[in-house]
Order: sequence, then C-alpha cells, then structure tokens
Amino acid sequence: MTSRRRMVAGNWKLNGNREASVALANSVAKGHNGEVDVLICPGFAHLADVSSAIKGSGLLLGAQNCSAFESGAYTGEVAPGMLVEFACTHVIVGHSERRQLFAESSELVASKAIAVQKAGLCPILCVGETLEERESDQVEAIIGAQLDALLDVGGIEAFHNAVVAYEPVWAIGTGKTASPEQAQDVHAMIRAKIGKLDSACSDKLRILYGGSVKPDNAATLFSQTDIDGGLIGGASLKADDFLAICHATA
Ligand code: PEP
Repeated sequence: MTSRRRMVAGNWKLNGNREASVALANSVAKGHNGEVDVLICPGFAHLADVSSAIKGSGLLLGAQNCSAFESGAYTGEVAPGMLVEFACTHVIVGHSERRQLFAESSELVASKAIAVQKAGLCPILCVGETLEERESDQVEAIIGAQLDALLDVGGIEAFHNAVVAYEPVWAIGTGKTASPEQAQDVHAMIRAKIGKLDSACSDKLRILYGGSVKPDNAATLFSQTDIDGGLIGGASLKADDFLAICHATA
C-alpha cells in the first residue's frame, strides 16, 4: 500500500471580512508545522488578500466552488483559470450545501471537477448521504452514484488528480460526527470502488472525512486506515482549533 500524505482543508464558507480572513490565514500560517498538507479555502472575495498573506508559508490555497465554464457569457461565474491567478491549487466541488441549496446535480459537479483539472488544479469532490438515505440503507448507492457521475465523464483518469471528501450531510455543522467505524466503512467502500478500476489510483487517492470534526474527535477519526485527513467547516474558523486538528492528523 502506498503511504498517502495527509491533508487538512478548512472550508471558511461565507464568513468574515478581508481583515478577519487575513488575520485567520496569518495565524494558521504561523502555527502549522508542515507535517500535513494544510489547505485553506476562503471566500472568492478574500482570495487575493489571503493569497498575498500566506505567500511562502507552505499553506495551500483553495476555493469553495467554481464555474464549469472556462469563459464566456456566464454572468457572475468564476472560472477555474481565474483561480490559478491567485495561486489556488485546489477547488472544492459538490459540497452538500451547493448540492442542496443551489440544486447542483452530480453531473454539474462532475463537469466542474473536469474544468478544475483542465485548469491544472485539483478538485476536492464532496460526496455524502442524507440521514434519510442512511436510514434507508442507501449509503453505498448514493455515494456510488456521486462517484459514477465523475467516472462517466472523466473515466478513472479523473481520479488520478483528485481528492474525495466523504461528508455525511447529517454531520455537517450539526455537531453529530460519524463514528470512526461508520466513516471508515464508507471510506473503504469508496477506495474499493476506485480500486476495482485502478488499484494504483485507489492506493494513492486521498479520502478526507468532513462533518463536525473538532480537536477532540479528530485523532480517532484520522487514525482509521482509509481516512487521510479532514475537510473542516466550523472548527476551521478558529485558528487554535484548526491547528489542533492539523496536529491530530499528523
Ligand atoms: C463542511 O462544511 O464541509 C463541514 C464539514 O462543516 P463542519 O465541520 O462545520 O461540520
């Protein structure tokens, strides 16, 4: 088995102003020790300031969303190529808030992932089931279909330069974390599905867990075989908590 470098990504969502984002970025830059890949994802409007603030710090910068289009008459969209100009390396696609609140289909999410890769960036593909889907035993089918949407348009190659984030919808921002066993089961299922098509790709694929990760539950979650780090929402807005999670991941 390949050893996978661990990663912790902070999804800052729609929070803060320029000054607060730069202050948060500076605190994370000062406190991280390079043991894991640390990615921060501020809002679009703060990318320029945060990008300058973290230059040379070793922190990675990402966006929370992007357009599936490269250019053209698409008012209000942000193309992946534009994100390259801010030194972004990653883009979150298919976060459950995008899927649920903005009606993004798995097909649209897949086309965004491909557009991100075409721009030379790495997509973080979020997948996850609702509570109702879990309770009706549909976890494998739902997550399988979310992965299939990208396999359909990009083939297994689309997973060569991608990160997958398993984020059970019922655990995001709710304080209810998946148990380490529940999360490990789904991560193993994702890896096995990719492994059936390309075992080297699946060995290298980083699969992050997201959903109410906090400093006190991070180490147990991240000690599971197939969990390679986390996608952190609420706790990424406090530098001390986020850094404690990063340290727990190493
Ligand atoms: C998220 O928004 O991706 C997330 C995991 O949020 P939280 O950590 O707050 O549950």
